[in-house]
Amino acid sequence: MTDFRVGFGYDVHRLVEGRDLVIGGVRIPYHLGLLGHSDADVLIHALCDALLGASGNGDIGKHFPDSDPEYKGISSMILLEHVMAKLTAEGWRLSNADMTLVAQRPKIAPYIPEIKAVLSEVMKCDACRINVKATTTEGLGFTGAGEGMAAYAVALIQKK
Ligand code: MG
Repeated sequence: MTDFRVGFGYDVHRLVEGRDLVIGGVRIPYHLGLLGHSDADVLIHALCDALLGASGNGDIGKHFPDSDPEYKGISSMILLEHVMAKLTAEGWRLSNADMTLVAQRPKIAPYIPEIKAVLSEVMKCDACRINVKATTTEGLGFTGAGEGMAAYAVALIQKK
């Protein structure tokens, strides 16, 4: 019998000057970047929380505390690699992951194929198991005002 588990993740980071904008492991040209202890890749953080949630492993803050200098400026792809390695060691395989980035600007759609390619490589799965979407909030709220970005993710994992 196959055991299926679903997990959900949500994350927010503030947009500031003087930082690179990295979304789903892809550097996107923009005059602002996301502020955080790591590279502040909001999409990967939501995805990691979905995967950790599905496998009953708590959340990203428990595994990679932002008080730990080891994780300062770290690429979130490394965090995702660690999360996937943990799940694989526990016998879990990814069924699929779906995520939505909430950002007023810049336009993310042109970068989605590259983000999917990067994520599927890090997660060692077919790109068809990963879906990435982007939306604005029609100018409403902190994302609409361009003060920050948010991301939501769900992941389904399975074990035989
Ligand atoms: Mg985060």
